[in-house]
Amino acid sequence: MSIITADRAVDYALSHLVPIEAPFVMRFHGGEPLLNFDIVERCVEKTKAALPERTQFEVTTNACLLDAEIGKFLMKNFARIGISIDGAADSHDMHRKLVGGEGSFYRVKKALSHLDIDNPVVSARMTVRHDTVEALYDNVCYLLALGFTVIEPVPDASDSEWTRQDLAMLQTQFYRLSDLQIDLGSKAVICGITASANRLINMPCDVGGKYMHISPQGGLYPCALSVGNPKYCIGHIDTGLCQARVNTIKELNIKENESCIGCARYGYCNGTRCKIINEINTGNAHLPSMMTCKLENLLVKTGRYYKEKQHAMR
Ligand code: SF4
Repeated sequence: MSIITADRAVDYALSHLVPIEAPFVMRFHGGEPLLNFDIVERCVEKTKAALPERTQFEVTTNACLLDAEIGKFLMKNFARIGISIDGAADSHDMHRKLVGGEGSFYRVKKALSHLDIDNPVVSARMTVRHDTVEALYDNVCYLLALGFTVIEPVPDASDSEWTRQDLAMLQTQFYRLSDLQIDLGSKAVICGITASANRLINMPCDVGGKYMHISPQGGLYPCALSVGNPKYCIGHIDTGLCQARVNTIKELNIKENESCIGCARYGYCNGTRCKIINEINTGNAHLPSMMTCKLENLLVKTGRYYKEKQHAMR
């Protein structure tokens, strides 16, 4: 994103969103936002100057470029700093590689020394894939030992190689993490477990409302997943929202998933809430992927297990 686009993006966001949202949350995600740290810094300073008391900044980063100066800036200004780290080196380096092909683990680990990782604003964002699932519990323990107090394991629904055995392993690992969360009490949060136990009914997708994503070129999109895909572009910072495009996505969202009618999870599942994810995964906006469906059921079982264990401990 250029400086001109960044300035226009902040101006657009402030003028469009400020009357709606309090606090004003600005989240940087990628790609990799720290590739353009000067722009991140500029957006933060400009937004803070305009709204001194109502801003909240969040970032998700692979931390490869995070040095002492950046770490200090993030700790001072950001309310959420998500570090993409999949666990110990063996698991992390399987999928997170530098341009030269070597794993990025050592770079990330070094970057952690520039953050207060025991501060709950810093979280470990783990992507769990079919080939790392067996080490999930051990990887969470590893990250706790490093000092993280907030850990967010997220199964990768776009990984097409999950087998029935892998999913059974994921369930086993989530049960083990449930037990671990109970042992940890308030010392640390494993978000995947606590979120499973506290699933709320879906809110309708607020396309074109108080939640919006801006691409490096200034395009407006309803969510992180859709950024850059022209099919889901709903406007531009220079011309504003295109109401016809907003309405097209709203209509997509209103229509029910025929294949899910009658399911007890209808009101809670990602597969019924986010039609864009469905369309990207299956080519049909109203047909969730098999993995979305299986994960929903797995998370429900995990949530029940965790609550029962919690209850039994009282
Ligand atoms: S995707 Fe599966 S779990 Fe989700 S609502 Fe449809 S049938 Fe139910």
